[in-house]
Amino acid sequence: MTKRIFNFSAGPATLPLAVLEEAQKELINYKDTGMSVLEMSHRSKPFEAINNEAEANMKELLGLGDDYRVLFLQGGASTQFAMIPMNFLPAGKTANYVLTGAWSEKALKEAKLFGQTHVAATTAEGNHNRIPTMEEIKLSDNAAYAHITSNNTIFGTQWQTMPSFGDVPLIADMSSDMLSRTFDASKFSLIYAGAQKNLGPSGVTVVVIKKDMLENNPKTIPTMLRYSTHADNNSLYNTPPSFSIYIVNLVLRWLKEQGGVPAIEALNIKKANLIYDAIDQSNGFYKGHAAKDSRSLMNVTFRLPSEDLEKAFAAEATKAGLDGLKGHRSVGGLRASIYNAMPKEGCQALCDFMTEFQRKNG
Ligand code: PMP
Repeated sequence: MTKRIFNFSAGPATLPLAVLEEAQKELINYKDTGMSVLEMSHRSKPFEAINNEAEANMKELLGLGDDYRVLFLQGGASTQFAMIPMNFLPAGKTANYVLTGAWSEKALKEAKLFGQTHVAATTAEGNHNRIPTMEEIKLSDNAAYAHITSNNTIFGTQWQTMPSFGDVPLIADMSSDMLSRTFDASKFSLIYAGAQKNLGPSGVTVVVIKKDMLENNPKTIPTMLRYSTHADNNSLYNTPPSFSIYIVNLVLRWLKEQGGVPAIEALNIKKANLIYDAIDQSNGFYKGHAAKDSRSLMNVTFRLPSEDLEKAFAAEATKAGLDGLKGHRSVGGLRASIYNAMPKEGCQALCDFMTEFQRKNG
């Protein structure tokens, strides 16, 4: 087999090798069914078992009980931007958004299509290089919910502690840090994540929803866009992205084998520190985009002294087997996405490459 490289892509992103090998082993004949999960009816017993196990594993890893459901939907996190206000923003109430990056701005844009909105805080002024303090966040009266983006994939910032707004339902886009660190999930009314970063392949969006949020979903919105439709039908109202759900379940099993979220968090801290230390010890050759107190454990964004050097860095890194490091155009420079499945060796290899690149070009 050809050698695997270290893939720092922001998503779809690297998956645990053990998961890929397991899927490969089972690809043609899944557990003696004589068929692949790719070919299997979503109404069959074996698929039902996968679907149920994936929900149970997700709840177990998040430490959630019977008052929550986990749904496996389609349309990406971007469809959640619209489904949330469609389901939870009635006339007379105001949807509150904390804007910490391009994805929260896109979420707000969709909410504006459906009702009244309020920007509770924004960090646009510093090109989203930090997370606002609780003092900066001002909710409106009659808040329907408060929406945050827990990790800002493009800018490389992350809420260090999750906020809380009393009785106002808290909703979070956790697309790029779901299950990467411990937090009290029971404080959230809804959490959503496109799977293609920390949870599995593209094609499935995970929605963790408190059951009380399923009670009054309006009947006037399309059936497929109503959360209760999917909860009532175990995510099987229509044909689900079955193979993606199967891979997500393998990733969740893998995560449990690693020791669950606390163990992966400890490793994620070590991994991120390798790269942040290389930035901090470079005498200004590498400059982090994120303020130190807002740094993400998942996406490390940094600049070099010139765009030419940044181009050279990305190109040489690719040749050295470190791929996907080119940053997003709204920040420029480089971005290392180091989700749960990125091994520590990958971060060490990047750190060594950074030191060597600076020695040659600094
Ligand atoms: N939210 C965040 C934080 C993201 O990083 C992304 C991008 N992958 C999205 C939302 C959009 O996700 P999707 O492509 O699944 O719609």
